[in-house]
Amino acid sequence: MSSLSGRVALVTGGSRGIGAAIAKRLGQEGASVAITYASSKEKAESVARSIEAFGVRAVTIQADARAPDAVRRAVRTTAEKLGSLDILINNAGIGRNGTIQDWSVDDFDMMLNINIRAVFVASQEAVRFMKPGGRIINIGSIGSEYMPIEGGSVYAATKGAIAGLTRGWARDLGPAGITVNNVQPGRIDTDMTPADGPLASRIRGSIALQRYGCPEEVAGLVAFLAGPEGSFITGANLRVDGGASV
Ligand code: NDP
Repeated sequence: MSSLSGRVALVTGGSRGIGAAIAKRLGQEGASVAITYASSKEKAESVARSIEAFGVRAVTIQADARAPDAVRRAVRTTAEKLGSLDILINNAGIGRNGTIQDWSVDDFDMMLNINIRAVFVASQEAVRFMKPGGRIINIGSIGSEYMPIEGGSVYAATKGAIAGLTRGWARDLGPAGITVNNVQPGRIDTDMTPADGPLASRIRGSIALQRYGCPEEVAGLVAFLAGPEGSFITGANLRVDGGASV
């Protein structure tokens, strides 16, 4: 029997990049999986077909993280369509760079709404459905504690908030038997931070392993935390960064 057989997971932002790799890995481990997306309908449907190939159910839900009602509805739809909700992966997020002189208040608010508020809303709704053994896994960033170049302040602030929420929710939800953890990737080769992007040559040398990670390397840690072997880990901020921040 696979480690997540019979479990139901929701992965926000599962249409591309790290979220898509996590959704597929959870499906491979036997979970039924719902994924949300903002605009990549076809990519989300393609991810769902890959998940169904493992013999489990997959559902795609359009839910823009900027809209709290849409996020709440996505959580409820998952539980209704797949019968329960055991695992929430708060992955949807945006990265935008700029020094303090460049940021507008509107962009600042948008970053906070997508990277923090939507995580709060999804988690608050999800715990209404979760039983003991439930898992919330946030995708933060090593940016919460490590700043190798200029321009990352607002992104880092949002991911620092995720680290704080993780610790607090671990306390809040521990008595209910629900674990809450924060996976903090370093540079991963996705549309957000392509390994051949403009900053790559500057960044690569600062990574101990001298390369960008791939989404599947993040998904492996997430699957471990979601599975039975992760049962006594909660409130942890775990780096998967190739040694970028050592
Ligand atoms: P990508 O840009 O490759 O994918 C982002 C995903 O989030 C897509 O599925 C996208 O949906 C979804 N998304 C974006 N905006 C919204 C929105 N407003 N509402 C709903 N969904 C949205 O990003 P990554 O895979 O690289 O990043 C995933 C997570 O990992 C993020 O939280 C990011 O901060 C974090 N991270 C990434 C790192 C990296 O190096 N790549 C490093 C550290 C952390 P759609 O396809 O519809 O646009």
